[in-house]
Amino acid sequence: MLNINNLHAKIGDKPILRGINFTVNPGEVHAIMGPNGSGKSTLCQVLGGREGYEITEGSVEFDGKDLLELSTEERAVAGLLLGFQHPVEIPGVKNIYLLKEAINAQRAAQGLEEMDTFAFMKRIKELVKTMGMDDAFLHRGVNAGFSGGEKKRNEILQMLLLQPKLALLDETDSGLDIDALKVVSEGINLLRGADRGIVLVTHYQRLLSYVEPDFVHILYKGRIIKSGDKSLALQLEAEGYQDFLEAAS
Ligand code: ADP
Ligand code: MG
Ligand code: MG
Repeated sequence: MLNINNLHAKIGDKPILRGINFTVNPGEVHAIMGPNGSGKSTLCQVLGGREGYEITEGSVEFDGKDLLELSTEERAVAGLLLGFQHPVEIPGVKNIYLLKEAINAQRAAQGLEEMDTFAFMKRIKELVKTMGMDDAFLHRGVNAGFSGGEKKRNEILQMLLLQPKLALLDETDSGLDIDALKVVSEGINLLRGADRGIVLVTHYQRLLSYVEPDFVHILYKGRIIKSGDKSLALQLEAEGYQDFLEAAS
């Protein structure tokens, strides 16, 4: 589904990604770990099509398409959806309005008509409940005054509504207390499916004890220096990064 081949990217003059190779097949959950400043967020941003990055080498194929040729919107329509490490605040726009816009934009791109308001409300209320949120949050400004945990719940709610083929979640666990972490993890587990790929960026093993990844990759200085199964995350938690980083340099 996603095939990243020798991807290099820079910000200004600074090379950040220095030859990333990795493949996500439908149904797989991949965790990307690594020390601060390794390029994890940059990789997510580049895949999501955010501006400010120059791709200097390599290719990315998504669902048979050349991903790097597509705009951010085209990527979302193609089914690649990026959550936010720091979800944006749009205080003047009600959350429910943005969610409705998002689903209808997706449907329009698929040649479907707008979702019936009743069906939309029913679905959204189910999801609000699933994510342990309050209905009132639907009528608040997008992310305005949301706690870190509420933003993350909202991010997963959006993913559950839009059902992307590939979900990219950058530090979905940062700033969550243990209860919020459980709810967000349950949401991610609901998102899991035979047709869907999930890429989770995380600093900690904690999330991965709730959402068991099929693969774990360590990103360091813009390269994947080691890949393994979920036991790699446990090993990292126990031993820290140092041995891996030394072995790689
Ligand atoms: P991670 O998510 O793994 O912590 P990032 O992708 O955020 O790492 O950052 C990778 C490197 O790119 C870091 O050295 C960081 O300082 C640098 N970087 C990130 N964003 C920018 C930017 N907008 N301008 C300049 N350098 C940046
Ligand atoms: Mg960081
Ligand atoms: Mg980051």
